[in-house]
Amino acid sequence: MQKITMKTPLVEMDGDEMTRILWQGIKEKLLLPFIDLRCEYYDLGLPHRDETDDRVTVEAANAIKKYGVGVKCATITPNAQRVEEYGLKQMWKSPNGTIRAILDGTVFRAPIVVKGIRPSVSTWKKPITIARHAYGDIYKNSELYVPAGATADLAVTRADGSVETKRIHTFETGGGVIMGMHNTDASIESFARACFQYALSVKQDLWFSTKDTISKIYDHRFKDIFAELYEREYRAAFEQAGITFFYTLIDDAVARVIRSEGGFIWACKNYDGDVMSDMVATAFGSLAMMTSVLVSPDGLYEYEAAHGTVTRHYYKHLNGEPTSTNSVATIFAWSGALRKRAQLDALPDLEAFADRLEKATLDTIEAGVMTGDLYLLSDLPNKQKVSTLGFLDAVASRLA
Ligand code: NAP
Ligand code: MG
Repeated sequence: MQKITMKTPLVEMDGDEMTRILWQGIKEKLLLPFIDLRCEYYDLGLPHRDETDDRVTVEAANAIKKYGVGVKCATITPNAQRVEEYGLKQMWKSPNGTIRAILDGTVFRAPIVVKGIRPSVSTWKKPITIARHAYGDIYKNSELYVPAGATADLAVTRADGSVETKRIHTFETGGGVIMGMHNTDASIESFARACFQYALSVKQDLWFSTKDTISKIYDHRFKDIFAELYEREYRAAFEQAGITFFYTLIDDAVARVIRSEGGFIWACKNYDGDVMSDMVATAFGSLAMMTSVLVSPDGLYEYEAAHGTVTRHYYKHLNGEPTSTNSVATIFAWSGALRKRAQLDALPDLEAFADRLEKATLDTIEAGVMTGDLYLLSDLPNKQKVSTLGFLDAVASRLA
């Protein structure tokens, strides 16, 4: 059999624990037998991040800037316990945070819908993709506890030295809390741009929601920037693609999302996206069936699974116990990245392979062969639970 060839390399970022084992298995069983894989490999596994003082993460992000498309395995974000477990030089930052800061992107999370796993919301027929603004708001806030008797103000010192203040609250009888947060026009605009472009690339409607009726300056700024950019640059393309841009209040959006049948992109402010993406993922069935892609305003793409390194399963594996870890989101990270690479390089064979890989994966589950997490959820009568690598073997035999 002739292997499919590639032109430009894909930026490959290896990771940690159970997902590192999935990574190896996917490459060996599902990719290398069919593709003459051209990857530039970066080992973002925690030991190598520590060895390189985390430079490898920055180098990987720069490689995505160079080549345009990357695929990433889940990685450990160290905490105090991990510093001890791995004997780290320091508590390195989240690789995803580092990469996001360099590429300045928006994260789109989409569930993989499969027969036999029914969403908790019975009207949902098609996936709902959440686009989360990944900059600012409460994630970059300054907050204080304020004692009784104190007065809190917002103060802005302008470039000319003049100061504008606004009263937050006078804490007359007891203490309380205050918080200052920000966003920038540039970041909001690049978020909006990423959402419009992504909607056009997948030909789905785009919804956007904030609380602009209450937050008449802060949230209203988001609403205005989206509306202006849409009119100025995207309305014509949306009309031509037969898709719509729809703005509504966050509470109205929540109600409409629940009543909808899915099949659209929901753009959310940072906090809304954090919360809503977990809710949507859970309601669609399993975090293990959620893909994630970071899209930068200048058209760079980084694909990954939304879940973490599945530590609990890894420790079982280290103990010699059998595991049944779901590899679907990681397989779809690869197929998504290969498809994007194929589209950018005009490689129809590679694009067709990405489609076949996804179909073989879904067909395997729909034929009743699945990992333990899905086995618990599936209503297929003939379902059968298989091991981590057993699932990959079943997909591989369908592919071949
Ligand atoms: P997790 O790895 O997502 O796993 C949490 C639980 O969800 C698992 O114990 C398992 O439940 C279930 N699960 C998740 N993915 C699964 C899969 N593919 N197949 C089957 N079950 C799956 O989250 P975590 O345990 O909180 O975090 C572990 C490590 O991952 C942490 O070090 C964290 O820093 C890192 N992390 C990385 C990323 C990333 O790189 N993007 C994202 C999140 C977390 P059961 O145990 O009940 O089977
Ligand atoms: Mg969250």
